Amino acid sequence: MNSDTQGAAIPASADVLIVGAGPGGSAAAAHAASAGLDVLLVDAAVFPRDKTCGDGLTPRAVAELERLGFGDYLGKRPRIDGLHLNGWGADQRVRWPSSVFGTQGSAVARTEIDEQIRALAVSRGARMLQGAKAVDVEMDGDRISSVILTTPEGRSSVAVREVIVADGVRSTLGKVLGRQWHRDTAYGVAARAYVDSGRADDNWMGSHLELRGPDSELLPGYGWVFPLGSAGGGLVNVGVGALATAKRPANMQLRPVLEHYAEMVRDEWQLSGSPHRLTSALLPMGGAVSNVAGRNWMLIGDAAACVNPLNGEGIDYALETGRLAVDLLLENRGPAGHTDSWPTILVEHYGPAFSAARRLAGLLTMPKTVPILGRPGIRSARLMSMVVRVMGNLVTPDDKDLIARAWRGVGSVSTRVDDRPPFS
Ligand SMILES: Cc1cc2nc3c(=O)[nH]c(=O)nc-3n(C[C@H](O)[C@H](O)[C@H](O)COP(=O)(O)OP(=O)(O)OC[C@H]3O[C@@H](n4cnc5c(N)ncnc54)[C@H](O)[C@@H]3O)c2cc1C
Repeated sequence: MNSDTQGAAIPASADVLIVGAGPGGSAAAAHAASAGLDVLLVDAAVFPRDKTCGDGLTPRAVAELERLGFGDYLGKRPRIDGLHLNGWGADQRVRWPSSVFGTQGSAVARTEIDEQIRALAVSRGARMLQGAKAVDVEMDGDRISSVILTTPEGRSSVAVREVIVADGVRSTLGKVLGRQWHRDTAYGVAARAYVDSGRADDNWMGSHLELRGPDSELLPGYGWVFPLGSAGGGLVNVGVGALATAKRPANMQLRPVLEHYAEMVRDEWQLSGSPHRLTSALLPMGGAVSNVAGRNWMLIGDAAACVNPLNGEGIDYALETGRLAVDLLLENRGPAGHTDSWPTILVEHYGPAFSAARRLAGLLTMPKTVPILGRPGIRSARLMSMVVRVMGNLVTPDDKDLIARAWRGVGSVSTRVDDRPPFS
């Protein structure tokens, strides 16, 4: 079979089957193929495919893409210095705080960057099937022995040694394996569209913390404008997002709110024409899922709810968990498999920060909290720099400064008092 095909014969077996070719699955496939593993990457869609997203890349995502060899590619894309935060009559330009991840963010449309990572995986030796949906598994005791795929040609079974499930927010194969998403902690609902802009080459991401609806009512959400550069067609990605919990669902009509927000930023961002390709989606967040692994399978990226509860970014986590999952495969922990080791790794890397962030995000779903914190907060450059560091997921376990220690401290207390800590 060709290594990159749609509608080709389905192979009988693969050492590592990766379900989903978003940033998580494709990064995992690239790392695994580079390590010499026999990889089959499958996706229900045919690429290039769109994915509802803000297209924003934090310095942490850029660092992970550079690790995959995309440094030159990103050199031709917007170099984003930080966030331009707005709200309550004030604004602050906050540079990405310097960290091990560097100080440059970027923004690239998902139709493009996902295709790039997918093609990289194939060029490194992964076989790929497009238009192939993973719908079921066959078990041999507690191991997945085969994954069942459906394609326009019919149903087939692929014998597997290991499975990485990177099938995104709804994670249909994850559900078959017992994945449960808990919406009692914060989750997101968000919409995005594209608009032509005279400022597509800007070096700042616009972010509005005071979001108003068409009747000027304050909404529990935020708006963004991410410039995609001339190489991105002179467009900006404009979007709105809201946090919700099962108790306080976001009763927001996303389309009119997004259209209203685009009008609000029209002059500032020199927008021309109407927002187009408007789509919306849910975001699982903060590791709010259980059953993330079994003996020979692991969930990564959105499937494992690896999304920052404070701003909805998940590309860096998808890329990172793809790499970490392959590291674990290569360690070969013997008969115990990944059932305990994968959640342990996820908790080590993200548990405390997710626990603290989703607690804070839960507070932000209360209508009065946003103006109480936002109005004075946005006037303090120091506080906003701290917020961007935490929101951008730029605190690492090695950081020894006061803010990092305080954030980690809050995280570990928060995890201890969680009814259901992340990934459990
Ligand atoms: C409106 C919105 C704005 C966002 N903005 C940002 C942002 O600016 N920056 C950021 O970092 N993150 C952002 N995110 C989050 C980000 O989009 C996700 O975290 C990221 O896409 C996760 O990558 P993934 O590889 O886990 O999953 P996905 O990118 O969703 O990829 C999953 C893939 O699996 C395939 N698939 C699904 N089911 C099956 C199946 N059964 N068999 C085979 N294939 C299957 C799908 O076709 C898809 O290609 C945003 C999300 C939303 C909704």
